[in-house]
Amino acid sequence: MNIVLLGPPGSGKGTQGQLLAQTFGLVQLSTGDLFRQILQDPSHPLYDSLQVIKEGKLVSDEIVNAVVEDALIKLKDAKGVIFDGFPRTVAQAEALDRMLNSMGKKVEVVLDFDVTKDVLLHRLLGRRVCSSCKRVFHIKQGYTECPECQGQLTIREDDNEEVIIKRFGEYNQKSAGVKEYYLNADCAYIRLFVNDPDISAEEVNKWIIQELSKRGLVQ
Ligand code: ADP
Ligand code: ZN
Repeated sequence: MNIVLLGPPGSGKGTQGQLLAQTFGLVQLSTGDLFRQILQDPSHPLYDSLQVIKEGKLVSDEIVNAVVEDALIKLKDAKGVIFDGFPRTVAQAEALDRMLNSMGKKVEVVLDFDVTKDVLLHRLLGRRVCSSCKRVFHIKQGYTECPECQGQLTIREDDNEEVIIKRFGEYNQKSAGVKEYYLNADCAYIRLFVNDPDISAEEVNKWIIQELSKRGLVQ
């Protein structure tokens, strides 16, 4: 099963992607994580092109598509892929269909995280990411290290108010087209409306699994 996660920064795509991947034995493919990994290596050929991330701007479709295609080829034997942070433009959605098509696969499910702006800001400004396992926590949980792997908890460079506002702007500008693309596609489109800042990741995960089973997509 191939799943696309749509939603603004802070909507919980990454966390839910990890939980779904664990539950159903799928592989999570996060373009943001792939890019942050590349940014650790100044000698990487894409290092300069990815500097736009620090300003909250989108990376060009050409680069994103090439990175995803490369990753997908390596994942050709996976039971399914969870696309987290991709596609973010209609051109990327079209490219993804072409890539999957050529492998005899398709996008079966789209999860659209519709989260109020207050909740998003609260989460992003308090977000702490484990530098080792990439799990996401919130400062209010009070951890001094990753409770799962004892890795170091870090603040993402683009999680500051100025850059967050730019990322929201990019998302709002581009996402409408991507939503419309999938609403017209032959896949299950599931919309999750989150307006409670205290809802736990486990609750959202349960809710998603309920929605998937209602539609007969999982047992
Ligand atoms: P978030 O959803 O919290 O903004 P991500 O980790 O998904 O975080 O992405 C971080 C940054 O990486 C984005 O702000 C953007 O600059 C870049 N990026 C990630 N995925 C894409 C994509 N599909 N297209 C263009 N840029 C992307
Ligand atoms: Zn960890």
